[in-house]
Amino acid sequence: MNNILEKLVELQKLDLEIRNLGHNLQQIPKREALIDKKIEATKLPFENGKKRSEELKKKADLLAEEVIKIEEDVRQIKLKTPKVKSNDEYSALLKEIDTAKKKKEDLEEEQLNVIEEIENLEKEIPELEKKYLEQEESVKEERESLLKEKKEIESALMKKKEERNELLPKIPKNYLDKYVHIASARNGLAVVPVKKGICQGCFIGVRPKLIQDLHYGDEVIFCESCQRFLYLEEQ
Ligand SMILES: [Zn+2]
Repeated sequence: MNNILEKLVELQKLDLEIRNLGHNLQQIPKREALIDKKIEATKLPFENGKKRSEELKKKADLLAEEVIKIEEDVRQIKLKTPKVKSNDEYSALLKEIDTAKKKKEDLEEEQLNVIEEIENLEKEIPELEKKYLEQEESVKEERESLLKEKKEIESALMKKKEERNELLPKIPKNYLDKYVHIASARNGLAVVPVKKGICQGCFIGVRPKLIQDLHYGDEVIFCESCQRFLYLEEQ
């Protein structure tokens, strides 16, 4: 085979492998997402439980602050009482105190509910976590083998790219440019064999004269129909 064609066939093989590896690499996150989806049924309740518990603790703190504030308000109102002159003012203050106390009771009731819910969650969360961790354990091997596969693809990809970089300077620039041009227009297939007189790129017959030239191997021959580089498949 013509030396340039040999290099182009090699380049095309590398390019297709690189494309394939790249495609496989792109599938990894999707496959990871499928594993995630498998354990969602136990992961979500656990995570939601934790989140809910944190929210409730914040709420409990806020309620406690509010209760303290109301206690302080009541104290301030009571301080005013001895200075009150009229009955009307006095009953107004009492009413204010009553309202504040009622609000405090409501807040304290809410506090109790929140604390009860927190306590229940604190009991549930370790159970939820256990179930989640068990399921995570069941996909551990799958995750590990996926990670291993990813590393293998990455290193193969790097190796192929290195090989490609080493090969490029060995191909004359005009042929390389033409190869890149055809490959991008023809879905990566720029160099094709001729089998039984037929171009394997466009499946149209190649003139006998060109086949003869291919046999000599002196020139770089292109398919007259699809413009791809041609080579004779070794018998
Ligand atoms: Zn063709």
